[in-house]
Amino acid sequence: MSVLWVLGAGQLGAMLKQAGTPLGIDVRPVDIESTETLPLKPTDVVTAEREEWPETVATKQLATHNNFVNLGTFPQLADRLTQKQWIDRLELSTAPWFPVESDSSAQQAYQALGERVLMKRRRGGYDGKGQYWLKQSEATQIPDDWKGYAIAEQAINFDEEVSLVGVRGKNGETHFYPLTLNLHINGILYASISPLDRLKPLQSKAESMLSKLMGALDYVGVMAMECFRIGDDLLINELAPRVHNSGHWTQAGASVCQFQNHVRAVTGLPLAAAEVKNQSMMINLIGVDLDYQWLSIKGLELYWYKKEVRPGRKVGHLNFCSGEIDVLQNALTEITLPQPYPEALAWLAKNLP
Ligand code: ATP
Ligand code: MG
Ligand code: MG
Repeated sequence: MSVLWVLGAGQLGAMLKQAGTPLGIDVRPVDIESTETLPLKPTDVVTAEREEWPETVATKQLATHNNFVNLGTFPQLADRLTQKQWIDRLELSTAPWFPVESDSSAQQAYQALGERVLMKRRRGGYDGKGQYWLKQSEATQIPDDWKGYAIAEQAINFDEEVSLVGVRGKNGETHFYPLTLNLHINGILYASISPLDRLKPLQSKAESMLSKLMGALDYVGVMAMECFRIGDDLLINELAPRVHNSGHWTQAGASVCQFQNHVRAVTGLPLAAAEVKNQSMMINLIGVDLDYQWLSIKGLELYWYKKEVRPGRKVGHLNFCSGEIDVLQNALTEITLPQPYPEALAWLAKNLP
């Protein structure tokens, strides 16, 4: 039996492993720092839980395997510059931008993009790390170590943030979960809710955008597209060529979750047009200690990542799924979490149907 190797051994790798179990697929996440010689067989398959990686003993072995799915796509999307170029080339909407070069100035940025400009490092940024605001009112300048290593984006005054998680098979077949509404606080995802009737009118537009991208990249597996909603328009914020935090609710709320659909896609198994069961919501556990008392809250499912708790670090998530909105509203009143969670809980309560 072939093994599905996962480059990376964080929570996404662990959840891919969990999803492979009922399929009888041996999913093995690999720590990128591992120095072991991996028993890779020619018929094995390789996927990744992260879009870029340093060259290590482990990543060299995996990245030279013939069955590394999407190997060529990762560098295209891991660099925000080439990612933005792909979006532009396919004539999809995104925040206006330009590359920050060695001779770029803040004045140019204000002239081209307006008085508030968000610089994002081309590589390695996540959870809002690797961002730098340029504000004309404060005469902010571009620090030298950002020149040549970043893109500059117009500040978008969006109504809200939504994401689409889709899966594409080797034969080009695609399936999508319903759009998810996301709350970010200080650049990091705190909460998600899906499905929402009021987002339904945007579903087909979002699906055609992500289809176009996955098709152009001949992508296989789960991809996520984060968007800003401005009225009836969607602007792509960024793409993730992997399972995504805003799809975690599918573990509780869909007949087949994003992790299992990714495993199915990369191993060439039939995909599932996942049936959405009920109303779902997800709360990320960020820098908070584990509390097993949460388990007494009706409708709650805990995923704890067994990572050391540090401020700003994602250490777990809570999924909720119920056909009774009262159960969800009630859960939100029973859970106590420190600042800034009251904002996230109130946001969920307000957005529940
Ligand atoms: P992730 O953890 O999702 O990978 P990231 O560090 O890659 O995050 P982005 O998704 O690009 O960063 O940005 C993080 C958040 O910052 C967004 O979800 C949004 O709230 C805000 N943001 C990003 N770009 C803009 C923009 N152009 N204008 C206004 N806000 C923005
Ligand atoms: Mg990102
Ligand atoms: Mg993002």
